Amino acid sequence: MAMISFRGVSKAYPSGAVGLHSLDLDVDTGERLALLGPSGSGKTTLLRLIAGLEEPDSGEIFIDGRSMKSVPAHRRGVAFLPQRPALYPHLTVRENLKVSGGNAPAIDAVLQIAHLMDRYPHQLSGGEKHRVALARLVARNAPIWLLDEPFAPLDPVFRSEFRQDLHLLLERSVATMLLVTHDPIDALALGRRVGVLGEGRMQQLGTPEELVRWPNNRFVALAVGQFYLIRGRASGGDSSEVIFASEEGSMLMPLPPAIGRIVAGESNRSLTLGIRPEDIYLRPPEDRSVIGAEFVGWFVVSAEPVGSGWFLTLVRGTDRLRVSLPSGTPPRVGEPHSVWIPADRCHWFHGLTGQRIDASP
Ligand code: ADP
Ligand code: MG
Repeated sequence: MAMISFRGVSKAYPSGAVGLHSLDLDVDTGERLALLGPSGSGKTTLLRLIAGLEEPDSGEIFIDGRSMKSVPAHRRGVAFLPQRPALYPHLTVRENLKVSGGNAPAIDAVLQIAHLMDRYPHQLSGGEKHRVALARLVARNAPIWLLDEPFAPLDPVFRSEFRQDLHLLLERSVATMLLVTHDPIDALALGRRVGVLGEGRMQQLGTPEELVRWPNNRFVALAVGQFYLIRGRASGGDSSEVIFASEEGSMLMPLPPAIGRIVAGESNRSLTLGIRPEDIYLRPPEDRSVIGAEFVGWFVVSAEPVGSGWFLTLVRGTDRLRVSLPSGTPPRVGEPHSVWIPADRCHWFHGLTGQRIDASP
């Protein structure tokens, strides 16, 4: 049963800015959906439409099966944490919570704000204000939580802590959560399903794993933030193998036959190769039956420590690759090195449209 449904919802602004184009979306009861999109992709607009702070130009929004046409904001059962939440400056934290319907003790166990109760907003740090704003949202006991970039103003340490708090709060709640963010880490960490919004449309909707393993297009691959994209062209075909050559010419890769056949029949042969850093290796596998290609003449330009491993950047001409090395000693910066890419880890996109070439897994 859907708690929130969009049916052909469009919203444009007089400024001509892209809003939402005939959007269909179902958020199930109790679901945790994260929407990921770059700035200006319509995320805030979408939340404001649900909250009743904006009206759609066309289409309809349903909450718990009821049309929200002419239902005012305060009757929608929605708690909204805006991008820059404001507390009442003349009220203490306790009073701020009380105005929202306050069930503060239950929340305090997770958010640890008991010692802040008698302070005024100007006596709180940015991170503390944020916790209070979240506490106020939870205190409303609304069946729907809308969170607009809840982590954006926080520095990385607070961010990860705040994410864990939200996880705990969600575990204890039956609320339906819709969170929007431009940060793939936040979206993939908090959404059981993640939707990628771009150019007013839902580009893809799936589990975090589905998005990372099978992005439908180049936009999604970039949005989830884990792909390196290399532009190039295909040559050959008919009776010969179809070969991908990167623009710089430093990478030549035979296309898998299924992809090669599709590309060979097209007049525009520009292609984009998408590859994740953890799928690129510094040497070929021992098992020689694994199909892939080795590329020589790359230079290591940096090795950044990440956890117990390394994140390397290699360049050749204008081509650039990121390689994740889970453990061991990284090669020396400045030295040439070859890389090895398994064919079955390559994602192929049409150069012009950016759409994935092989349509289904
Ligand atoms: P996001 O939250 O993803 O950054 P928004 O929903 O805020 O995106 O905005 C989507 C587009 O609509 C942007 O191009 C923005 O400039 C425009 N926009 C948003 N609100 C208004 C408004 N009240 N009037 C005119 N244009 C707006
Ligand atoms: Mg926004």
